[in-house]
Amino acid sequence: MIGTGYVGLVSGACFADFGNQVICVDKDAAKIDRLAQGECPIFEPFLDALIARNTQAGRLSFATESGPAIASAAAVFIAVGTPSRRGDGFADLSFVYDAAREIAAELDGFTVIATKSTVPVGTGDEVDSIVRQLRPNAEFAVVSNPEFLREGAAIEDFKRPDRVVVGTDDERARHVMAELYRPLYINETPMLFTNRRTAELIKYAANAFLATKITFINEMAELCEKVGANVQEVARGMGLDGRIGSKFLHAGPGYGGSCFPKDTSALVAIGQRYGAPVRIVETVIGVNSARKSAMAQKIIAACGGSVRGKRLAILGLAFKPNTDDMREAPSLSILPVLASEGADVHAYDPAATSEAHHLLPEVTTEADPYACIEGADAMVILTEWDQFRALDLERVRAILRKPVVVDLRNIYKPADMMARGFTYVSIGRAS
Ligand code: NAD
Repeated sequence: MIGTGYVGLVSGACFADFGNQVICVDKDAAKIDRLAQGECPIFEPFLDALIARNTQAGRLSFATESGPAIASAAAVFIAVGTPSRRGDGFADLSFVYDAAREIAAELDGFTVIATKSTVPVGTGDEVDSIVRQLRPNAEFAVVSNPEFLREGAAIEDFKRPDRVVVGTDDERARHVMAELYRPLYINETPMLFTNRRTAELIKYAANAFLATKITFINEMAELCEKVGANVQEVARGMGLDGRIGSKFLHAGPGYGGSCFPKDTSALVAIGQRYGAPVRIVETVIGVNSARKSAMAQKIIAACGGSVRGKRLAILGLAFKPNTDDMREAPSLSILPVLASEGADVHAYDPAATSEAHHLLPEVTTEADPYACIEGADAMVILTEWDQFRALDLERVRAILRKPVVVDLRNIYKPADMMARGFTYVSIGRAS
């Protein structure tokens, strides 16, 4: 596994748990050191135990040098980052191509090179030609094997996926990949074998569609607020239609995270490059970024039009619950605006606080939700961690300086909150 991040580490540990011999490689020596000492470098539920079990069984190991790992492998997975390139929004493929060159140097015997990173259509062709140029006589096949796991539920998603997509025209590679995923046959996981370019596009199409679904319900929430309707009931009424489905219809502060923002931008850039613009996705990106900006104004309005000199208690910093990942989190666009408007911003997150320290230097992080709330002029729910659903609301009411709650995830019931004496503002529901 080349790249031991959220995807590489989870995939590597799960493949080891299936009984394979896995070496996870990363250039980041500090990360590999921590793993070698039995520490998990990311917060992902149950991952530490899975890693421990498989390292102890001798199936999973870690290295900074890829050479020996590649030479001995039947399959090498590329799971490095593909961030947005500055300027044009296209995916930065430099990490993928570096990995391809490293793999080429070490190939020994027929090897499958499987790309798990999310990459634009045609990247597999480029990886193929890089390796072919460096090693004209090597035996290998480049396969697209996009990953669909979600942070926070990554192990379950990897072991019980809705589907596995494998893009290749090579029979030997198909056989190797089918063997690797064989444990999933027990759950009757659909295996979609297709060509490489189709597999590459499936991943972008799926993410762009999900981003569109979220953005759609966010616009409905805006309309609900104007017309006095309830977005949760609208979502339920829509979602019960089997053609629509109920998932990804939760209105909120706009999507963030390590995938949707960069993947929607990359899909737009791919569409433009090939003269087939994806105008719906272009609009989704614009609407989502406007939404994130509007959330700061919503909080300011709930505080009576100004936050100058006011203390705000922010619950949740990560882009979603059960992860410490802060990449493109709504908190990163909302909190600096509040601070620049003069607010004294305090925040609590169960996992992302240390990550937030350098990303949000203007924010004071607290070790406990009640310490965060104490003396605040408003409490803002930014990420829907389960523990925020179970707060002692009487205590919250007593320690807030002003009983204002801005719930950007709709985790409480408006009538209940108002009965408890809160001024309660949520998303797409009457306040
Ligand atoms: P990440 O940033 O957490 O991890 C990438 C790792 O690759 C880093 O640790 C980096 O040091 C390492 N790396 C880079 N170049 C290397 C090289 N040449 N050799 C060894 N290591 C190298 O990224 P991630 O979130 O795991 O995402 C990886 C890919 O998977 C991306 O393309 C992403 O779009 C895709 N993806 C991510 C998710 C997710 O939820 N995070 C889900 C599905 C797909």
